[in-house]
Amino acid sequence: MNRFDGKTAVVTGAGSGIGRASALRFAEEGANVVVADVAEESGRETVELVEEVGGDATFVTVDVSDLSSVERMVEVAVETYGGLDLAHNNAGILTDFVEVSDITEADWDRLLDVNLKGVWACMKAELPVMNEQGSGAIVNTASEAGLVGMGGLGSYSASKHGVVGLTKTAALENASRGVRVNAIAPGPTKTNIQSGLGGGPGDASSIALLDRLRTAVRLLRIAVRTLRADFDTSAMRDVPMDRIADPEEMAGAVAFLCSDDASYVTGHTIPVDGGQAAD
Ligand code: NAD
Repeated sequence: MNRFDGKTAVVTGAGSGIGRASALRFAEEGANVVVADVAEESGRETVELVEEVGGDATFVTVDVSDLSSVERMVEVAVETYGGLDLAHNNAGILTDFVEVSDITEADWDRLLDVNLKGVWACMKAELPVMNEQGSGAIVNTASEAGLVGMGGLGSYSASKHGVVGLTKTAALENASRGVRVNAIAPGPTKTNIQSGLGGGPGDASSIALLDRLRTAVRLLRIAVRTLRADFDTSAMRDVPMDRIADPEEMAGAVAFLCSDDASYVTGHTIPVDGGQAAD
């Protein structure tokens, strides 16, 4: 399929994981790709991978929590390729497991700045360009934690619920302008993000509710398996499909939402989670 021939895409967090897979998928389907990441070395590696599949990519350093940095990213897309048609606002970070009352102000601010303000900043910079063109498609990366609470991940879950609400609102505001805005809610996916997990669920006795503890243990188990690349699916009862996703499976959903195959879809957050949201 060449659904994105002649189009320009920007992907944040494109140096790794889901963002890298989506940058590659956009390129494989014909788009020029602006590979944006705070990490320069891995971002440039993504550019090389795009070039290996015959695509055209440009790296730009961005910190999505900094609006002026994000505005520069969009300027690079327009200056380099003449416009901006597709955006995957995907960069995000994860925290250690701590209950809400133990989150530090600095940790709260940093996580919300990257995961929620970052998505807002991207859309603030992207939407005027797309509105001027009268066309465009945006996909934000939320999470399963944006649909349900997750014990020990209060700031992360709050940020991702925020992404879902922001996605709906931006979709409504831009629906009549030819610009669609959707999100994906990935389930557990084999990427580097879970290596950011620190000391596990912390003091179990401090997580009051049983379901929160279960969630924390489940996520820790997934994280450990991810780090050890030991995907023994027998214990993964929590994902009905009994496995962790590959980043390419997220990229497929992003590509669908950005394509004309989804021309009547806006304002939705699509779970890509092996059936978790149905449980
Ligand atoms: P990853 O760590 O492999 O990739 C994240 C990328 O974002 C990295 O390249 C990192 O350098 C970049 N990044 C971090 N902070 C940034 C900043 N301030 N500005 C620009 N770039 C920044 O992780 P991933 O799993 O591919 O994560 C992508 C998105 O998917 C995140 O929003 C994450 O919350 C979401 N997500 C992941 C999972 C999972 O299980 N992997 C599940 C649900 C949601």
